[in-house]
Amino acid sequence: MYYSDIENLHVELTNRCNAGCPSCDRTGNFPGSVSETVFNSGIHDLSLSDMKNICEQLPKLKWIHMCGNLGDPAVSPEFKEIVHYLNSKNIYCTISTNGAPRKPEYWKEIALKGVSVAFHIDGDEDTNHLYRIGTDYYKIIDNAKAFIKAGGYARWVFIPFKHNEHVIEKCKNLAKHLGFKEFNVKKSYRVSNLNSKAKIKIELPKNENLINFGATNNKGDKCISCKVSNNNEIYFSCNGEIYPCCWWAGYFWSKKFSNKENKFSYLLDFENNFKKRDIKDIVNDYIKKTDVYKLVWDLKKFSVCNKKCGNDKQKDRYVESRRNL
Ligand code: SF4
Ligand code: SF4
Repeated sequence: MYYSDIENLHVELTNRCNAGCPSCDRTGNFPGSVSETVFNSGIHDLSLSDMKNICEQLPKLKWIHMCGNLGDPAVSPEFKEIVHYLNSKNIYCTISTNGAPRKPEYWKEIALKGVSVAFHIDGDEDTNHLYRIGTDYYKIIDNAKAFIKAGGYARWVFIPFKHNEHVIEKCKNLAKHLGFKEFNVKKSYRVSNLNSKAKIKIELPKNENLINFGATNNKGDKCISCKVSNNNEIYFSCNGEIYPCCWWAGYFWSKKFSNKENKFSYLLDFENNFKKRDIKDIVNDYIKKTDVYKLVWDLKKFSVCNKKCGNDKQKDRYVESRRNL
């Protein structure tokens, strides 16, 4: 991949979130609170002005996925303004949200052609909040209804756990009734029994077909095929740092903000924040290290790449591929 090829971005607009899902990198071991990483890093947002700067430096952009490791994009202070700006530049936007931030009137204004919103709703009124801690199911449904009624393209993404696998069909029928365009069951790999104080125990579904292969096999026993370089894609963290992918960002942030030893600092030994250097120079620094990365992949040295792109976890994410309702 070359700098001039970059067409796709994954951006983390913020590390703020209204929810406290167990085992999310933002939440850590304290459901409803924040991890050591986020506590030490402080709050960061990519602003409208940052996004304009990024788009000016990457004129071939076609698609921006707003998700990230540490926050919900809809909580970002300038979320609506950023979506409208990208839409005016004909950049296709996909957004992942727990659906609870903001009000229905706000979501109506996000319902633009060229914008797709994945509402991550993991259950019905009795079960969604057990994982999406701190969210209000009825508010989520009201927001989604307003978005859909205004013409928005909505997906319902459902992560099955032991506590909600019995309501999948119920939610699918509701999604159809409400006008969602897709209902996607995303296989589980995130579990938690880490916080005995909070009495939170999130378990994998009983139905083995609903479990991500990566939840039980994390070894990375296949040749590595780098997802992002195959897709001309890079990742922006909420503080402006550029990484190849969200998985590298998760690793390097966890080391940087917890003062833990980082044995892989040699993979990223240059300034990678676009607020301090041109994006072109940062991407070129990554490209200059391509031989090192290839060697690391061949020798299976870096567990992040082994786990994420060296097994079937990423290929095994959905029970069915995108399905129209
Ligand atoms: S909604 Fe997303 S970012 Fe927020 S706590 Fe849950 S998984 Fe983490
Ligand atoms: S984890 Fe490694 S191999 Fe996979 S996309 Fe990221 S940089 Fe590429």
